[in-house]
This record gives sequence, structure tokens and C-alpha cells, in this order.
Amino acid sequence: MSVLSLADVYRARRRIEGRVLRTPLIESPSLSAIAGAPVFLKLETVQPTGSFKLRGATNALADLAERGCRQVVTASTGNHGRAVAHAARALGIDAAVCMSALVPENKVGAVRALGVRVCIAGKSQDDAEREALRLAREEGFAYVPPFDDLSVIAGQATIGLEIVEALPDVAHIVVPLSGGGLFAGVALAARSANRAIRMSGVTMARGAAMHASLAAGRPVLVEEVDTLADSLGGGIGLENRYTYRLTRDFIDDALLLDEDSIARGIAHAYRHERLVVEGAAAVGIAALLDSALPDTRARRGPLVIIVTGANIDINLHRRIVHTVPAPFHSHKTP
Ligand SMILES: *Cc1c(COP(=O)(O)O)cnc(C)c1O
Repeated sequence: MSVLSLADVYRARRRIEGRVLRTPLIESPSLSAIAGAPVFLKLETVQPTGSFKLRGATNALADLAERGCRQVVTASTGNHGRAVAHAARALGIDAAVCMSALVPENKVGAVRALGVRVCIAGKSQDDAEREALRLAREEGFAYVPPFDDLSVIAGQATIGLEIVEALPDVAHIVVPLSGGGLFAGVALAARSANRAIRMSGVTMARGAAMHASLAAGRPVLVEEVDTLADSLGGGIGLENRYTYRLTRDFIDDALLLDEDSIARGIAHAYRHERLVVEGAAAVGIAALLDSALPDTRARRGPLVIIVTGANIDINLHRRIVHTVPAPFHSHKTP
């Protein structure tokens, strides 16, 4: 059925073992009370680079290294670049990371701190990608795409394996959605275990390229703009090879959130779970708080929200936690 098999996902898991964490899956009392059903959070925030991107990047780079590659280049909204830089260092290969001027300074700094070559190019992820592809062409680096790549998708899919192993009766998985590498991988692994698992993808309304592409029936361009969910920015590529089709085939609900809602998600994670999460990682929690998720009470099993990353500028985080009003949710058990 698919270009990627479950065997590829198990191979990815063996390759990344010991380099990437098997992350905790914790129950959230506050969100379970709101949903009227058990809600679990899959905490990719604890990965060494602060996001799940380490899974796909480590799998892709280990695969390239096994085949003798010594130099890689990538384009990133921050987290993939940091993951590639970390994995390259661990594997002893050279890396260059291209990022646009939209990437927050805390993320650029984190990539720089890993000692790889950094180039800042243009005002969008597409500009950064053009520069990365130029380096690949002119200097012979291997290009590591941030999502539209089978090794990257297989790496992200290991999250899906971990979820169905830890929680075999999971009924619904909520995934932050940008290029769709995470969504495609998790959906592939989860649906291989149980075809009835509901799969929701959540994105910010400001510049949702995959959402617009799904609506149009083909990959389309969307202008990239500033958003709290900066890790969800960027196009899916008009020449998208894998993630558009996989996402289209697996997705049950494609949800959009405004900026206020994302801020509420960040504030809730902090106040009720003591979790520092970035905007992109808060969208699943935000969708639940907004009652945007379909019929959570009717589910026969738990809901899992993937909390994808922690890499938020700490001053921005403080501002959000101080300014978002506490809503009227009743979390008390009767
Ligand atoms: C990259 C990223 C996503 C989205 O992943 P895609 O594979 O591009 O859909 C979500 N959250 C965070 C924190 C990310 O870094």
C-alpha cells in the first residue's frame, strides 16, 4: 500500500537506539477531565535537542554514514537543523544548516552552539531550502530534507510504535502538522497496529501549507508568516514526493488554530502540567481546550497528544504565561 513499510520503521528504531530517547507517555489529569476520557501526552520535549526531530535526523544521517557519506546539508525552521547538527556530531560527519531570517534567535543559537556551519538565507523556509540545495550541488554535500524523505519519516514513525506499545487501546492520536513527516510516520506505524485509530493533524491558521494543499487536492504554495508555532512554518514543496500523499491518505481531521488558542495551549501546559512547550508543540493541547477535536467522550480508548518540542524563547514563554488569562475549566474531580 505504501512506499514505506513497518519493517522500515523497525529498522529505523534499531538504528537510532541509544542515540534518541524513548520518551515518556504521561496521563494528564487536567486534560482528561476536560475531554471526559483519558488523555496522555507523549513528551518529545525531553529529547536531547528539545524536539522529536532528532529521531528522523538521526535515522537519516546514520543511514547516509553507513553508505560512506561524510558531509550533509539541510534547511530548517530550527529544530530539524539542531537535530541534524547533533546527529552529525555524534556520528562524526560534517554538517551545514541553512535557516531563514524567520527562525527565532534562540533556535539559531542552539544550532551554532553545536559547532556546525550555519547560513542564514532569505525570509522563508523555501529560501533556506534553495540555499541548502545550492550547497549540496556546488559542494557535494548530501541534502537531508526536513520531512519529505523516507528515512526521516521512518525515524519520526518510531513515536507511533512507542505509543501503540505503551497504550495498545489508544483510540485517537493528535499530531502537530507542518510538512507531514511526523504525521505520516506516526499514522503509518499506528494504523499498522490498529486501523481504527483516529488521526488528527493540527496546524496554525497563519501559513498552513499542508492544510491548504489538502483542501486544494494537490501541493500548493502558501505565504510564510510570523506565528507562535514557528516550527510549523514553511511549505510542503510543489514537488512533494511522500508526505502529502501519506498525510492525505491517513488524516481524519485537519484542524486550524488561531494564535490566541496556541498561546492558551502553551499557558495550560505550563500551569497544569509544569511543561515548557513551544507553540508548535502546544497545538494538540490547544485543540482540546478549544473543543476542536471531534467527540472525545465517545471514544472507546485513550487519546494521545504528541507534545513535539520545548524550544521556545524563554522571554516569549514568560510573556505568554503572564498574559494569557486562566479560563473557566473545571479540573476538579467531584
Ligand atoms: C517540525 C516540527 C513539527 C512538524 O513536523 P512535520 O514533520 O514538519 O509535520 C511539529 N512540532 C515541532 C516542535 C517541530 O519541530
